[in-house]
Parts: sequence; C-alpha cells; structure tokens
Amino acid sequence: MLVGAGPGDPGLMTAAGSAWLARADVVLYDRLANPSLLAQCRDGAELIFVGKRPDAHALKQEQINELLVARTREGNLVVRLKGGDPFVFGRGGEEADALAEAGCEYRIVPGVTAAIAAGAYAGIPVTDRRAASCVTLVTGHEDPTKGSSSLNYEALAGVDTLVFYMGVKNLPLIAERLIAAGRSGRTPVALVHKATLPEQRTVTATLATAARAAEQAHIKPPTLLIVGEAVALRERIAWLEKLPLFGRTVLVTRTRRQASRLTRELGQLGAHVIESPAIEILPPDDWADVDAALRRLGEFDWLVLTSPNGADALIGRMRRLGMDGRALSGVRVAAVGPATGDVLRAAFVEPDLMPPKFTTRSLAEALVGEGLRSRKRPGEAARLLLARADIATDVLPGVLREAGAEAEELAVYRTVPPESLPEDALDALRGGRVDWVTFTSSSTVDNLLTLLGGSGVSLEGVKLASIGPITSETLEAHGLTPTVSADPHTIDGVVQAIVGFGEPNS
Ligand code: SAH
Repeated sequence: MLVGAGPGDPGLMTAAGSAWLARADVVLYDRLANPSLLAQCRDGAELIFVGKRPDAHALKQEQINELLVARTREGNLVVRLKGGDPFVFGRGGEEADALAEAGCEYRIVPGVTAAIAAGAYAGIPVTDRRAASCVTLVTGHEDPTKGSSSLNYEALAGVDTLVFYMGVKNLPLIAERLIAAGRSGRTPVALVHKATLPEQRTVTATLATAARAAEQAHIKPPTLLIVGEAVALRERIAWLEKLPLFGRTVLVTRTRRQASRLTRELGQLGAHVIESPAIEILPPDDWADVDAALRRLGEFDWLVLTSPNGADALIGRMRRLGMDGRALSGVRVAAVGPATGDVLRAAFVEPDLMPPKFTTRSLAEALVGEGLRSRKRPGEAARLLLARADIATDVLPGVLREAGAEAEELAVYRTVPPESLPEDALDALRGGRVDWVTFTSSSTVDNLLTLLGGSGVSLEGVKLASIGPITSETLEAHGLTPTVSADPHTIDGVVQAIVGFGEPNS
C-alpha cells in the first residue's frame, strides 16, 4: 500500500490514507511524513523508519523495495507512508514496480503534493486565469552543470509557473540556467520552507536575486522554489501571515487528553503549539468510598461537578457499576461550566444549574442561591455530593456548610505530575522560543513549575495566560504575574485573552 502522507500538516493526509494507516500491520515511513501521523496506527503495529534524508538514506531504495515486498509476502498489511504524493518525486513508481513484479497486491493512495500545498499556504495560485495557464513540477536535485541533465531548460523557461522540488542546493544554477534560456531575471519567485507546518516561512525575490535572498534568509530544505508571475499574486492573497497568532509559539499545559481542543484552536489561529502535559489523571487508589456513595445516589439533593475530569470519572464509574443516567432521577445536577456540562450532556444528563461565572466560588454562591433545603426530606438541610479531585480546595464545601447544607466530598480522580516534560517543550523554553504558556488550573501551575525546577529551566520572558482567578493566585503564590487572565474562565476565554493581548507579529 503506497500512501501519500501529505505535505506536513497531519490534517492534510486524505481520509483514505488515514483509514489504511489505522489498519496497517507494518508501516515504513520516512522523514517527510509527519511523525504525529504514526499516532493513528493501532497498538502493536510495527513502525520502521526507512530514512530518506537529503544527505544520508537510512536504507537504500533497493532495500526499501525488498522490505516492502518481504513484509507484504508475510501476509501483513504494509503501508509505505510517503511525504506528499507517492508518485511526485517520491520514487513511488519504483516501489509499486517492485510490488507488481513480486505479484503482491497493492493500492496507491494519492496525497497532497508539496507544490500544491505550498501554493495554497503561501497564497500563490499555481494556475490563475490572469497569470498562469500551466504549471510544471521539476526536480532541482539534478546538477544542471552536468552534461547528462534530463531537464530541458529552454522548454522550462517558457512555462508559466515552475515549481522546483529539492532545489535549495542548486538554486544559483537553476536561476542562472533559466535566465540563460530566456526567462526574465525580473520574474517573481518564492521560496516556501516547511509549507503547512508551524515553521512555514516564505521568502520572495526575483529570479535574479533568488539565490542571494535564500542565503540571507538561511533557507534550508525542505523548501520549494516557485517561479512565475503568479507569485506576485501572493501580495494580495497571502493569508497565513495574517492569522492573529502567526509566528507565536504557545506551550499548552493540560492533561494529554484535554490539550487537544486548546491545541486545535490556537493552531487554527496560526500559533505553533507545543503540548506539554503537566497533569496526569489517575483513578482513585480505592473506589470503595465512591461506590458506596453512588449506591446511595438517590438520597442526595444535588450532585455537584467541578470539572470535566470529575464528570468523566464519575460517569465512567457509574457505567462500571451498571448505572446510567436514570440513577440520577430526582437528583439535581450542578456543573461548574460549559465543558463539564458537555461531558454530562454526552451521557444524557442536562445540568440543572451552571453558575454565571465558571469558577468554584461562583458555583458555591449559585447553589446557596438555590436555598439549600432538601426537597426530598422537607424541613431538613439539602445533601450535596461533590465529585472532585483528591486535591480540591475547601472553598466549595466550606461555603455550602456555612449555608447550612450537608456537603459530602468524594475524590473521583487523582492528579499527579508526569515524570518529566517533553524534550521539545524543554528545548523551546531553553532556546527562548516560547511566547506563551497556558495554565488551565492551579495544578498545571504547580506541576509545571515543579518539573521545570527539576530541569533548571525558567519561565523568564515568557507570557503567562491563566484561565481564571484561582489559577492566577497560584501563579502569584509562585512569584509569577499572569500576563492575561481569561474571562470567561473557559478554554475559549484563554484563546481570546491571548489573541486580545494583540501584539504585532514579530
Ligand atoms: N513526494 C513529495 C516530494 C518528495 S521530494 C511530495 O509530493 O511533496 C522532497 C522535496 O519535496 C523537498 O526537498 C522539498 O523541495 C519538497 N517538500 C516536501 N514537503 C515540503 C514542505 N512541507 N514544504 C516545502 N517543500 C517540501
């Protein structure tokens, strides 16, 4: 199975390609295929790196072909994952040939090739009624000074849009040959580095100045050279650079599972997001207390959920005990905010109460505002079950008890710091490349600082985005000042606060 992985952004692989990848027994991948795609593979799939670096091939093409055939013959579903499209400068033709010759069954799943992706992401329409009626994809890998060049520069010079792959090293010669063949030195060109990835950079010049411009901008592979009048349209059409967070690097500290939404939203606004999980969610050491409380669930007037994790853990445990939403009939349910509400709704439970501000204090006040008398036992105080983390603060039960209610605290999950921070996060912090760190709870603050302390990296010069007042207080307790504090206290609020900080792009 030859599968195109697309140009870099994992979202640009085709749905068909993803489906094959998810089923694969063996995956042969190289450097241009985004490693995060491998996360789509099933547990136990054999992942083999077969290299393909500009300088050193980990395996020779011959060996790759042999491996592909051998593993397929063993009866495996083998996916050969190739950057971009398998047949565009990917030697996919040779690999397919080897499979055909060996009598193996195979399919070929196309991918978005780098030229097309770079055009889209750099705002350069590779064809355009006004500027270009044809486009040619060219390898820049050949040494054009060698007599044996298979490229006909006379013909190429006349093509409206030329896209050179692997052309960085030979850029001066390519430009020289095109000019010698009659293309104007004033023709606009663009160099698009790492198209569709967070590190994408585009440098524009003319054919005559391209080589110098590339050198000055330290342009390295993987880069495409786009030549032609269509490049000039970029001035009006470029969009990536206009995204509010383009060029910003944001470190997201949440649990691995929860980071995805924040990561996606920041990424869609152009940020380069590095996930740095600072909390791991674990089940309680012992479920006995939780199970006992769940068996008495019907006695409670309120079930109170103070986080999506709490809601998740509680619902998960109810399922394990064979309970479902009907067990909550007659019990009113309070959720601290919309994300917690969403977890409940997914389990067919509509929250009866959500406070105006999505904080525990606001939740406590809203519950007090409901009048904490039992509806079930007239004349008695209301009984509330608070499903929370093992390390939750005393604010909520304190306020409720003061108001005369019976509040029972239940630790439905534990939070622990992970063992260490990911290397890419530490590298970016050490290199001063991080613009923002997001904190979505007090424990993300405590844990990140503990982990950083252990590795001697500081947050000096980094802007800090806090989800709300409690998290901000925790930052301050560590001697740090939040640059922004979100309002509303939600993930969207954090994103908006960062965007609203509104620094011009650097
Ligand atoms: N099969 C791939 C091309 C492989 S050749 C495809 O269809 O895209 C490798 C060359 O592709 C690199 O040297 C570079 O010129 C180009 N390339 C691949 N991905 C790129 C990217 N994200 N940005 C810029 N150029 C890229």
